[in-house]
Amino acid sequence: MRWIDQEKIELPEGWLERAAAAKKDMDDKGLKPDDLSDVWRCLKDRFALLSDKRCWICEAPAARSDNAIDHFRPKNRVAEAKQEPSGYRWLAFDYRNFRYICTFCNSRRLDVLGGTAGGKADHFPLRNEAVRAYVATDDLDDEEPMLLDPCEDGDWKLLGCSLESGHPVPATEDLHHRKRVEISVELYHLHQDALKKMRLTQIRDLDQKISSAKDRYDELDGTPKREKKFKSALTAIRRAISPGSDFSGEMYNHVKKRRDNNYPWLQSLIDS
Ligand SMILES: [Zn+2]
Repeated sequence: MRWIDQEKIELPEGWLERAAAAKKDMDDKGLKPDDLSDVWRCLKDRFALLSDKRCWICEAPAARSDNAIDHFRPKNRVAEAKQEPSGYRWLAFDYRNFRYICTFCNSRRLDVLGGTAGGKADHFPLRNEAVRAYVATDDLDDEEPMLLDPCEDGDWKLLGCSLESGHPVPATEDLHHRKRVEISVELYHLHQDALKKMRLTQIRDLDQKISSAKDRYDELDGTPKREKKFKSALTAIRRAISPGSDFSGEMYNHVKKRRDNNYPWLQSLIDS
């Protein structure tokens, strides 16, 4: 997962008016948000551009499936809500509530091979259920979503990856945020077997690149030849942790974990 700056989303001319009209139609004619789904579906390609077509949650290489626009706050109903009707209908046509995610992260499904199940579907757990918004006048800022959000700066830095198994793990000691990671792994199905295997290959490869760069650093002797070798090793790491690379967020967090005062350039890599 990497941070996605929603304000970089370029909307088609007239889209905001179209969205407002759709919301009015929904309210006036008693339509369901899904009856007007073309309004958000037409944005899919534009959203894809922000992440090099990768799912904003899992950042899997090539598409695990056909990605779609998901509503971060579910538009129809919320599985965890204590009152009915639930669901953030008033956000159905708000582009700030849209996330570009794959059907593995989005739709409930079972991985028979790995024995796991997941998929966000209509889940949206909160830290404190009592403050959940049910109507447009309720204050969304009172809510603390438990799901990690790629559009919330900082959330992506909470998700790491195990060097042993490729399993997604918390990259924080904070208990509340560790709980958020745990819930997100489950609901986004980030522990799916095929995904873990892809992540494991990537993190082991990165770990070797770090070890190799340390060796090149130790070999520096002032000659341009050795300097060049070291710089190439650094570039390989930088490439692996740059947005647009496979699982770049988890790879970034791995470099952070490998920081070492004897090798200050590791810190520089994550600062840049
Ligand atoms: Zn995904």
